[in-house]
Amino acid sequence: MKGIFIVKKKRVILLMVDTLMDETLQQAISKGEAPTIKLLMEHGTYIPDVVSSFPTMSVNIDSTLITGLYADKHRIPGLCWYDTNKNKVINYGTGVKEIMKYGLGHVLNNLYGHLNNRHICTKTTTIHEQLDEKKILTASLNSFIYRGNYLQRLKFPIWLANGFQFEEQINISAPYYFSLGSMKKIKDENNLNWRFFVGDNKNVVRELQYLIKNDLLPIFTVAYFQDLDMKIHKYGPAYTKGVKKVDKRLKQLFHSFTSFEQALEENIWIILSDNGQTPIGNSKHEHLIDLRNHYYKYKIAKVRKGGRIKPSDEVLISVNQRMAYIYTLNKKICTDELVSQVKDDRRIDLIVCNAGDGIKVYEGGKETEFYFKRGGKLTDEYDQSWSIQGDESIVDITLNNNHISYGSFPDALRRLEAAMNSHDGNFIIINARPGYEFIAEKTPHHLGGAAHGSLYKRESLVPLIFTGTNLQPPFKRIVDIKQWLMQIIEKELNL
Ligand SMILES: [Zn+2]
Repeated sequence: MKGIFIVKKKRVILLMVDTLMDETLQQAISKGEAPTIKLLMEHGTYIPDVVSSFPTMSVNIDSTLITGLYADKHRIPGLCWYDTNKNKVINYGTGVKEIMKYGLGHVLNNLYGHLNNRHICTKTTTIHEQLDEKKILTASLNSFIYRGNYLQRLKFPIWLANGFQFEEQINISAPYYFSLGSMKKIKDENNLNWRFFVGDNKNVVRELQYLIKNDLLPIFTVAYFQDLDMKIHKYGPAYTKGVKKVDKRLKQLFHSFTSFEQALEENIWIILSDNGQTPIGNSKHEHLIDLRNHYYKYKIAKVRKGGRIKPSDEVLISVNQRMAYIYTLNKKICTDELVSQVKDDRRIDLIVCNAGDGIKVYEGGKETEFYFKRGGKLTDEYDQSWSIQGDESIVDITLNNNHISYGSFPDALRRLEAAMNSHDGNFIIINARPGYEFIAEKTPHHLGGAAHGSLYKRESLVPLIFTGTNLQPPFKRIVDIKQWLMQIIEKELNL
């Protein structure tokens, strides 16, 4: 052991690496491209298959992470959804064309203002709020989901705010230490990033280094590394260079300490991903499922400024890459009718709708159906109990002595139930088979690249690496991470 360390309270540092996948990480390690992550794995615990939430879209997953609840409780259904009560589409930033059509102000206000201030259910408590109640300060660096107890301000350039007609400043409730893109920085307010709306990995490491070197690092920090997601979207999960770049940044971060041993001694390090991605085929006609073709006989709501809906609109499509919510806006069109329009498409593997007090699931191109509801004599690996009827092969579950095991769709029943109850409205959920992605008007796509959003395991299972504690999450799911973090802070740090 090098040097003498001053004994002080350990810190918990959660590094969220967007779209870090076990398969990419293992390849990067075998090529010698991820030495820092490898070292952390050797000094800690590695769990390759933590279950994410559904839809596998960051805003939903990160809300699950910091509230410890699924979408039926935190109420963030995805990156794009329809707010029945306000009668408008909520878009947090899907693609440039779609954003410009909804209006930049609409998207920025939703993403930075309403998402945290209003949309995440106010009855939930985030980890930042819970720790603050115990007088423990926290930090949120570069995360879109950050609700905390301190007034912070996100600032936009005047020319941008005036040009796109939105407020130059958004007041938010966030943790004590808070940083997001160039809108709010801890270290250097005037140093603008080339990526204004979300900081790059370089910026996150600079902010972390600043907190470490100035002895400001609070007991709990969550820092987001967002860059890898875009690279995997473009090049697919085999792109190990993206992991190599993350690893290089982590190496820089560890250089803020006198030694790697000191970094490990003084902190509990956790690396976690939020979702994986599935490769999308190359054929525009085959691999992009244009949902306007399935619902052509209805009046589909157009993408309009401010997410406005017209009284004559009958059906609304909210695409979240490989999953979509389809809404009926007309009382004469029932959800069964929405189901029947997509039922013959073999590229869709799950078609889900509410049925009485339970949920019905169909498979595209198949005649059978499956029904499930909460409660009953069957239990699954997460101690959840269920009643089921019909063809369980649709959701790929296996039954053995009243025990449910999941296959292609981890924690399928609970995650489908959560998404179906994530918001009000009459809608169905559809999930694309591997290789396919949904599109509608102006939706971005990832032809020949990779995408996420679905319930499928390649997008749902993410790696977790941690050092400095033998405590394990109660279950290997992101929904259980908050409880685990609280345990670490209480038991390892005695706080
Ligand atoms: Zn993504």
